[in-house]
This record gives sequence, C-alpha cells and structure tokens, in this order.
Amino acid sequence: MYPSLADIPIPHGVPAKDATSPGYLTATDLARFHVHFCRKLLWLSNDKRRRAKNRKEFTEVSLWDQARFRKGTRWEDQLRVGLELLHGPPHIISAGELIGLITLDTRKHFYVVDVAFASPSFSRQFASKRSIRTVSFGTFKPDFLEIWKHTDEGNFTQIRWRVIDAKASRKVKISHQVQIGYYWLALNEIFQEWVAEHPNRDVQLIGDDTGVVWIPSTNSRHPTSGQFSVSLLRPLLEDFLFRDVPAILGRELKNVPWQYNSLCSGCEFMDRCRKEVVDEEKLSMIPQLSMKDHRFLLHVLGYMRNMNSGHCAIEPEIEELHRLLHPSKPNELAPIERLMESVPGTYGRVQRLLHLNLDAVKQRKIGSCEIEESPVLRSAIRHTVEILGKRCLVFPRREDVAVYLSVGIDPETDKLFGFSIRAVSQSPGTFEFNRQVVADAREPDITRMFVETLANVIRQLIAIKESKEDENLYVQFFVFDSNDQETITEFLVAQACESNADPESIRLCIGALLDHSSVLLTTVQPELLASALLFKPSKALRIAEVKKYLRVFGGPDVDLSGKKEVLYARLVECLSRTHSSFPHGSIGLQRMLPRLVSIHAAVTEMVAIPEPGFYGLDECVRWLVDGQSTSKENVHGDQWLVAIYKAWKAGDVQRTSLLLQSHGEMLHRVSRGLRDRIQDYCTRKETNMECILPNVARDFHVVYIDMCKDKHLRRLLFMAQYEMISTLKSHLLSRLHNTEPILLSYRSKQPDSSYEYIFNVHSGLAYLDTDPDWVAYKWILVREGSDADLMFDDLAYFDTNGERLWINGEERRDIAFANIMDVEVGEQGVQVRIKLRAAGCTLKGGTFRLKRRLVDFNTKKIVKTLIDIDQTAQTSTQRPLFLRMLDDVNIVGAERPSNAEDDLRAEARLQTFYREVYTLSGATEKPLLFMGSQNKAFKTILGRSITLVWGPPGHGKTHTLALAALRLIELSGRRSPGTPFRILMTSYTKAALANFTSKLQRLIDEVKSIPNMEHGDWRQQLNVGLCDDRMPSPATLPLHSIVAGTVWKLWKWMESNPTIGAAFDVLIIDEGSQMPVADAALAISVLCSGTSNVSKRVIIAGDHLQLAPVLKGTYPKETGPGDPQLYGSILECLMRGDDGEAVVLRGRRVSPDVFGPLTTMLRENFRMVKELCTFTNTIYRGGQFEPQRSSLVPARSLPHTLRGLFQSTNALLTVILRPRSHTPLDMLPFELHLQTEAKVVGWLVEALLENFEGRVFVITPHRAQRSAVNEVLRKRQVNGGDRIRVDTVERMQGDEAEIVIACYGFTTHFAQFESELDFVFHRNRLNVALSRARNMCILIASQAILHPPVSVLATHERCEAFAHVKTFVERSAVVQWGVDMVGDDHGAPLRDVTEELADRMENMGLG
Ligand code: SF4
Repeated sequence: MYPSLADIPIPHGVPAKDATSPGYLTATDLARFHVHFCRKLLWLSNDKRRRAKNRKEFTEVSLWDQARFRKGTRWEDQLRVGLELLHGPPHIISAGELIGLITLDTRKHFYVVDVAFASPSFSRQFASKRSIRTVSFGTFKPDFLEIWKHTDEGNFTQIRWRVIDAKASRKVKISHQVQIGYYWLALNEIFQEWVAEHPNRDVQLIGDDTGVVWIPSTNSRHPTSGQFSVSLLRPLLEDFLFRDVPAILGRELKNVPWQYNSLCSGCEFMDRCRKEVVDEEKLSMIPQLSMKDHRFLLHVLGYMRNMNSGHCAIEPEIEELHRLLHPSKPNELAPIERLMESVPGTYGRVQRLLHLNLDAVKQRKIGSCEIEESPVLRSAIRHTVEILGKRCLVFPRREDVAVYLSVGIDPETDKLFGFSIRAVSQSPGTFEFNRQVVADAREPDITRMFVETLANVIRQLIAIKESKEDENLYVQFFVFDSNDQETITEFLVAQACESNADPESIRLCIGALLDHSSVLLTTVQPELLASALLFKPSKALRIAEVKKYLRVFGGPDVDLSGKKEVLYARLVECLSRTHSSFPHGSIGLQRMLPRLVSIHAAVTEMVAIPEPGFYGLDECVRWLVDGQSTSKENVHGDQWLVAIYKAWKAGDVQRTSLLLQSHGEMLHRVSRGLRDRIQDYCTRKETNMECILPNVARDFHVVYIDMCKDKHLRRLLFMAQYEMISTLKSHLLSRLHNTEPILLSYRSKQPDSSYEYIFNVHSGLAYLDTDPDWVAYKWILVREGSDADLMFDDLAYFDTNGERLWINGEERRDIAFANIMDVEVGEQGVQVRIKLRAAGCTLKGGTFRLKRRLVDFNTKKIVKTLIDIDQTAQTSTQRPLFLRMLDDVNIVGAERPSNAEDDLRAEARLQTFYREVYTLSGATEKPLLFMGSQNKAFKTILGRSITLVWGPPGHGKTHTLALAALRLIELSGRRSPGTPFRILMTSYTKAALANFTSKLQRLIDEVKSIPNMEHGDWRQQLNVGLCDDRMPSPATLPLHSIVAGTVWKLWKWMESNPTIGAAFDVLIIDEGSQMPVADAALAISVLCSGTSNVSKRVIIAGDHLQLAPVLKGTYPKETGPGDPQLYGSILECLMRGDDGEAVVLRGRRVSPDVFGPLTTMLRENFRMVKELCTFTNTIYRGGQFEPQRSSLVPARSLPHTLRGLFQSTNALLTVILRPRSHTPLDMLPFELHLQTEAKVVGWLVEALLENFEGRVFVITPHRAQRSAVNEVLRKRQVNGGDRIRVDTVERMQGDEAEIVIACYGFTTHFAQFESELDFVFHRNRLNVALSRARNMCILIASQAILHPPVSVLATHERCEAFAHVKTFVERSAVVQWGVDMVGDDHGAPLRDVTEELADRMENMGLG
C-alpha cells in the first residue's frame, strides 16, 4: 500500500547498504506496521535490507500501489500551488545546511520541500529504554516543513518548524501519525545534535507540538487538515521505536508473533507467510479469523497448557486446538468441558469460533481422532469444504430475479472506470439483463451511465411486479464483498448529493439498494419498516384527525367523505395496503436480510473453506463451484479487481469488459454453488433448508418515507426506524450466536404471587440486567433446546407483553415474556426472581435460557408526532416551532418575549431583595440568589425565547434551572397577580427529573419560609409535581404549577388533553445533551399543542462533552450543507455559532464566541473540591471555570488507615492494579480479571463506607463489571443502603457522590483492552466517570491504560481521552496494588486484599 522510500526519486547521495549491514527500517515500514499490525513484517523488512546487495532487490511495486503512489504525488503537487516554497538541494541534506538555507531566506513564513535527511542513530534514546540492541533507520523525506522565522535586532534567529505530510486518503490514519511522529523525532534529534555542536550560533530551533496531515476535502478544494499533538504521541512512539522494535528485531524469527489474515492483503511477504501457515499448520489455517479471535485462541491454548501442568506445545497449533475437545485420559473431562465449568464466557467464545457441535463433543469416542465436533477444524485439518450448519440471515434461500453488480474503481482517482450489471431470473424468460460499460473517450461519464443503467433495471423490475398484480416478485441484489457494498453505497450517496445527477434515477437506485444510515446525507430515505407497523390509529381519533391521516397515507386523491366510522375504516384499509417488502407472517430473522447482499459475508457465515488466512472470489469459485478448478481468466483471489484495472490501464476496453462480465458470471456461480451445497447438507441431515437460510428475497417494492414532506422530519423518521432495526439486529445476533448465555433451572413458585417464580442461575450472572430504569418484560424465557427464540417475531410483539405467544400461527408453550425482579446470592447459590407472562408454559423441572427481546413503546409516539408536525407545517401559515428551531435556531431564539424589559428591571430588584433577606438573617447558604454566571444566565433567559444553559459537571445546571423556574413564576406572579403561569419540565432520565423536582421543592420551601414578603401571594398557588398516568386537565392545576415528566409521560398526557400546551408558558429540558432530537420534538409539540407558539420560552441545559444519547445505530458524522445536526442530542443540534454552523463541528474549544448567541455558560463549580475542579477543567479547553469549594476533606477526619492510602492532601487517587500470576496474564480468562478488580473495589467500598460519611459511587464501564462488583459486595455482606451505588457511566450522568471509584482495572487483560480502545478511551464517558465526585475520585487503572499502544491515538477523540487519563494520573497520588489473580490454579493461594493493603501500607511506613 505504501511505496517504499526506495521507490521514490531519491536525491543523490544515499549511503549504500552492503551485505554485512545490520539492515534498516524506514518511516514507511513503521507506517506499514500500523496498516498490517504485524511484527513479522518489521522483522522481514529489516532482514531483507540486510541481505540485499543493492536497492533494486526491494523496489518492486505492484500496479495497484503505483496508482496509489501517483495519486499521492498528484495530491502533493496540487497542495504546493499557491504556497511559499523553499526547495531543498538534490542530495541528502544535513541539519546545518538546512538551517543555513532557512536563515538566508528573507521570508518569515514558508514551506521547505524536496528535502531528504539521513536518520540519526538515536543511541541516547535506545539506551534510555535499556534496549538490548539498536536499530538503524533509513533516509526520510517529509512532504512539507512549515517554517516560521523571526530574527531580532541582535541577529538572533528563532526558527519554529512543523512537519506536514500530504496523504491522498479519505481520513487521517494512525499510520500517517506514526510517519509524521518519526519525522519529528528524527528532525528534533539532528537539530539538537547540531545545536550541541554549535553552541555559539545565534539560532534557536523549536519543534511545533502539532503534527499535520493534509487530506483531500470532500466538499471543498482546500485540504482538510488533520492535526494531532506530537507531545501526546511522542512517549508512545518512543516506547514503540526504541523498546518494542529492537525487541522484535532481536528475536529469532520463529519467536516473532504473527498471523496471516485479511490485513495481509498487499504485503510483499504474502506468498512466504501463506506457505509457512500450511507447512506448520498454524491457527491461520482457519480463514477469516480476526486478529482479536486469533490472539484469543492462542491464549486459550496457553491457558490450557498451564492447566495441564505447564507442558510445552510440540504439536502444530491446529492439532493442539483439536486436542482441546478430547480428554487425555478415559473418564476425564475434555479440556473444553473444564473451560465450560470454570469460565463459561471464554468457553462460549471458543464454541462460537469453532462452531462446536455440543452433541458431538458429549458423544465423543475417547482417544478417537474424529473431528466431527467442529466443522472449522475439520475443514482446516482435512482440507475440505465444510458446512457450518448455523442459520445465516444475510443470504436468501430463494429469489425470482438475482441482480449481480460488479464495479471497477480507479485507485488513482477513486472514480468508477467500468461496471457490469447482470440480472438472472430463476424462471427462464422472466427477466434477463447483461450489460458491461467501460470508460473510454466515447463514454467518459461512466458514473451517470451506471446510475441510469441500474435505474433502468429497477424500472423494468417494477413493471414486471406491477404486471403480476397481487403476486410476489422476489428480487435480490448481490455484490461480492463488503468493499463493493461500501463503494456502491458511497457512490450512490455522492451522486445523490450532486446536483447534476438525474434525481428520479438516483432515487430509484437508493430506494432499491440502500438500507444504510448514510442515506441520511441525501434527501432520499427508503422505508425500512412498514408504515402500518409503526402507525396504529386509535378509534378515539377525532374526525379531523382521521381525515388528516387519510391524506397522509391515502394520498391527495383519497375520498374524505363519510362519517367518522367510514373514514376510520378507510384509514385502516389504507394502512394495510401500504407496501411491505416482507412476506406476510415473516419472522424477525427475515427482516435482517440486507438489500445489497455480500456473497463473501454469506460464504464466511455458512461455510468453512480450507484456504489459509483469507479468500477472494477466485477461491470461492474454486472451492464452491463443481468442476471449476479455476477461473476462465486465470486470475487469483482478491487480485480480480487488480486484473480488471490492469486491463483498463493498458487501454484494452474489450478485455476489461470481458473481465467485468466474467466477474458478474462468477458471482452468479458462487451464489448458486453455495445454495447447492446447503441443499445437499440439508438433504443429508434430513432437515429443511429454512433451518439454515430462513430468508427469501424481498418482494420487490421501492418504498420511501414520503409521509413527511419536510426533509428534516423524513430523516428523523428514517432514524426512528433505523434505531429499531439496529436494536432488533443486535438482539437477534446475540440470540443466534448465544453471546450472552444465561442458563437457569426452575426452582419454585414465589409464595403469595401468581406470576413470580424462582430460578437457579447456572451461568451468565454478568448478563442479568437488573437496573432500576429498565423497561418491563424486556426478556424472553425459552426452554433449553427450543429454537422458539429464533422463530419469535420481535416486531409482532414490540409494544405488547401478552399472556399468550404465537409463532407462525401456532401458540407456543416453550417461550414466555419475562421480567427480572431480583437477583439474590445465598447459601444455595445465585437465584433470580422472575415475573412471567406464561399461559400454559410448563416450568417444573425445566432448564431455560433468558434472551433479550425488542421492547419499544415509544417509536410509535415519535412517528405520530413527526407526522403531526409535518401536517401542521403544510396546513398552517406559521411553520411549527420545532421546525423553525431546526431551520435557524439563532433567529427564533433571539425573539424577545413580551414583558422582557419589565422582567429584567424587576429581576434586578428581586436579587437585591433576596440579598437583603439573607444579610438580615445572617444565612451562609443563599439558595434563592443567582450567583455569578447564573445571574447572567437568567438575564439571558428573560431576554430570549430560547436559551441554552451550558455548564460542565458540577456547575449547578439543575439548580440554575430550578431557581429560574421559580423566579419566572415569581416575576409573573408579581407582574400579573391571578394570571396563570405554568412550566413543563422534562429530561432524558427519571433520576434527572427527581433531582430537579427535589431541588425545586427545597427552593419553594425556602421562599415560602420568608415572613411578611410584600406581593408574595403568588406563593400560595405554587406547586411542583411529577407527571404520571392519572394527570388532571391542566386548567385545573394551581396557577403556578411546574410539571416534570419524561417526554413519553407528557406526550401521553397530551393525548388525553390535546390542547395542554395552552396552559403552559415555558418548557425546560435538563440533560439536553442526552436527549435525541426526535424525543425533543415530542416535548416541544406538547408545549405548542392547542396554541400558537408565539411567546413561549424554551430553556435547554446540558454539556455536549458529556455522554451523548444512547443510539443503537451508527450515523454520519457530517451533515449536508446547511443541514442541522440531527444525529445526536437536541443540545448539539441547537448549539450553533453566529454563522449557524454546529458547535460540535468546531472542536472542543469552550468560549462564548464559539458557542454562538443563544448559549450562556455557567462558570462556577459548586460540586467539586478545587483539585477535582481544576482537573475537570482540563478537558474543557478554553474554559475558565472557578471552583467554589476550596477545601479538601481535612486529613484528621480520615481514619488512620485511609489517611495513608489517600494521602489526604490529594483528591485524586490512581490505584494501578498489578495482578500476580504464574500464568501470563493475558492467558487468564477475562472473567478472572473482572473478579480480581471487583475484589479490590469491594475492599475499598467496605473501608470507605465504614470510615466516611456520604455516598460512594462505583462506576463500571462494562455491565459485567457491575455484576462482578455487586457479587463481591453481596458476598462480603457490604450493606450501604442508599449510600452505595454501583452502575454504568451512562446511568450515573447527572448524579454525584462524595467519593467515586471509576473502574478501569479490567484493562489488566491486555488483549481485551487492545480490542476495546474506542470504548476505554471514550472522551465523554471518561469525562462523566471522573467528574461525579465531590471530594475524591479514585481511578482503578492498569499499566496498559497508562502505556497503551500507539494505535490508541488513531482518532481525535481517543487522543483527547488518553490525554485526560494522563492528566488525571499526573495530578493524582499513585499507588501500585499487587494482587493475586483469583482462581489462578497455579498462582499462590488467594490472599485477602485487606491483608494485601495492610502489608503494602506497612511497607510504605503507613500501617
Ligand atoms: S504477509 Fe501478513 S503475516 Fe506475513 S509479513 Fe506480511 S503482514 Fe505479516
């Protein structure tokens, strides 16, 4: 992928490497390492140079790479235009020579180009890392050196330099950062050497901390600048370069870990590695095995070896893996069975990866070499194609017409150069289509041709479908792999965004092919679920409403005459007629079939192919198609596209066309071959093909979300459907692959309850979710051995918890809706109390599994609200408030409410009044006074109709909202006595609602307690309450009411009182950074219901750097020009700068000029002690936030033992877990790491509760950690009542405690940590976790989290999160805590952590 430095024109004078050279690496090798993630690649690259007699031996570059290289050069040339350049000489340049050139140049700012340097020896750095050997690095050539030069009057010159690299890539990658980081380190070193040699020269050289990558912008001619902090990268890169790389090169090759996998594609050593895999029977014999899974299986082998008394492996890896399934002696358990008992999670993963047939494992013949248990191993050992026998949702078992798409993309320009569309029908003569088009001089606009040709095929299919009247026409589109899927998706989306594409054709293509969220970037949104499913009209609708929905679903020509009953029946009929692509009675599994199927993904899911590492189209043909040992054109594997490109590049249009045609034919043959094999397998097993392929292709309809005319609302409707589909998909995949196995057995009926039962928990305690904010009946209980969970149609029951459960028309008694009530650990083990809806379900003596199901009572409300808003927009003269806010919130928000001037004057008087009250009473707490920036915030609220109150954690957002609500009422009550003034309040979580109402109630009590208040009658009619299911008419509420409720409760209240909004003047949304835009639409609709929306006030509080809404789908980060940010929270959507651009797109600088006119910032931190506050401030770049609590917890109030541990002067503590084990840590299952961390946390909690006042929070990023900690607390009988809370970060946002323990100790399992970098280094999650504490925050960490691999810096967000962790550790007291791993058979006996701590403190002189 990356051209070697040896391939580019190198200036004269590169030192030649002779045969005795130790070899060397280049910056390109370092970058390639971070593309292939392979240590062996580094070793071989170095070795190859060591052996090479001349440069020519390693200069071969593929045509594909040459194209990419040309693309890079062209991009670099493009960038040079218009820049002030200083060209270097045509030879390798020294530091002195460069400095001379720069000082001679009279310009103050310019870019140095065409300069190549010899790498320094870095001897100092290697020594500092105590490396056993040094490594040589070759010449290097940064694309641009940006120079700022300043010479003072005394002729002293200061040169600031920055490294910039040009990459013709779509995004900035870690490999780019590593390359630039290397240039920076090397330049810094040679400049320092020069300075040391020339101490008297008047030149100062300063390396800029920012590394820059210039990549092409998608929507402008200017480059996008990807910037990163060199100082953040530097320590990680130095560890890698000067410690890890010498260690890799210093090993014998056989000891260098590697894996041959799909990332190897493009590596020059592929042939060699492939051969070694086959010869040595390595694990890579299993194709398509991810790096994570490969490493996991190696660890399992290591773990099992240790369990077998540490014997060393002499067998090939595949054989050893096979032995896992067999006991070494008769009547013993097989190693895999021991795993099943001790670490069920690990066992489950082995089972999934090897597709273990449990029956075969149980019925094994002792000592037999049969390998019936695992088709994966059977295929790898016997070199046969094996059917995995599992259900596959992403491939249809049948279609009437299959359309195969092949595309050729030029890697030099990323443009389409040719395509093939081939349609084949099952019944001959129904429909055939076969066309290939290649770009040439006569046909340059190939993109338009592709869209037009594809749209023509779709039109013809629509015509056939229409001619068949009520008959189905099953159509499926196919491509070879996910790359093609992605390319076509991106391509169609890009075409839709271009104004010159034919809108009707592109609309047809998107509607027929795409179900991906990237369609949100266009104005075309295909329907994902049938309208009738999400819109269920109620018989209680008024006649006007029935007519309204008839117009929506029946079209403009619908008959609107007749009585309400007639109209209602017509509406129901219209809805039932709406097209659904799914056959009637289809089950959930059938809805998972993509519109554009990847044949490669289907092969991987259904078949084990004996092809090492990975395979492409040619291997699929070879193994799956009878009698076809190789392709007609004799090209191999994923080289197909290269071959097509080669032909096109050679100008051979005819051959290119032929190859594209062959590609399409091969797709068809593989698809047919795959089905034939599945059919054979099913016949042999005497089973039905539906068991493996439950899906048939969709009945052909191209249906769009057209019930909303407004494009924002259409997008929100698509999102609502996409969220449901994404949730359903994750539940179905979990059920299919059994990723959260919870096994129960029936114990007894709960006394005094008709519906509750007790079950014993055999495994999966970590997955039992008993959180308080749960949705009722979100589980299904399925009898062990039944497939009812896979046949169960979630969508048929998503908004109901019926007593009886039907599947395909048959009532089932092996499945029931379940609600977890309680989990208890007693002497008899773990028991769970479950409420069941299970008419006829026999429980006694049964074993069951619990599985998650789709429960969604809210999406229908969103759909109805969005339709209502759209209808109002079409029929009313004024655009609804919600839409005006989306269009341009700055204009709407700036509207001045009536009485604003009077209120502002009155407010000044009230502040004075309350100040005097408190002065007279001598009170120290002054809750009725707005303090500092709160005062400014309230004035903003008074002067505008929309205000966004922004504040970091602990800045009193909720208090400000509560006091603002009270003061607005007071102002109105004083100004217009007897006039109602009521407020609606909502938030995303119930905890936030409770927090607001309790704070407000305290303020109300306070204001009512002021004696003899002049004009204080308004206080008599003051009331705050939570919205529940039995709300009265709003007009009957007290004059000054504040009603708080979730958006769903408020919406439900509006359903029975359609003009509810007329009774309310203000809407307050707290935690607005967690509330999705569509949910906010409900709240705003309630406020505007039954009234004109003029003079309403909306106040939204939040912090966009805390956790965002929990969305199941993945959505585009960018938006179309001028479009609002719909794919996040309402706060993010409405926070716009003066120019209307979303603030979230501007990085995280925090200042009023960035935040735009509607946002007011809270600056005082009332929660945290000073140290915690100043630490939290670091993530808010540019924010000047002031701590109001100056003192720490005094040392003397700490108990003796804790004083030592917490060092009393420091509110930040890092506990670095150092697990001890005879077994390498990564070879111990993840569960044991969780248990070890939980033990430590359990001890800490117990000690803290005993010795501190106030609450203790344990924040666990993973749910499994929460279970592990709760389990330990239960076992230790720690009972803190309300004082202890253990929960995930998502549920802790908005809450606070005196002491918080943030649990990141699970990262002691390095492999797990490495695979979860996005999760661990999630900026907003870390910010929330580390900012809940009032007095002290304890971070449970590991060495890994403090010294992660360089790849942690791959994204901007991860960089920021890592910087935040580093800052925490730098500012905290750090203790190392050695702890024996729980359950390590070969480790020392487990010591109680209390003793451990006592020992450690004694060692520190603190005991
Ligand atoms: S082919 Fe793969 S395993 Fe072999 S050196 Fe290249 S990247 Fe590493």
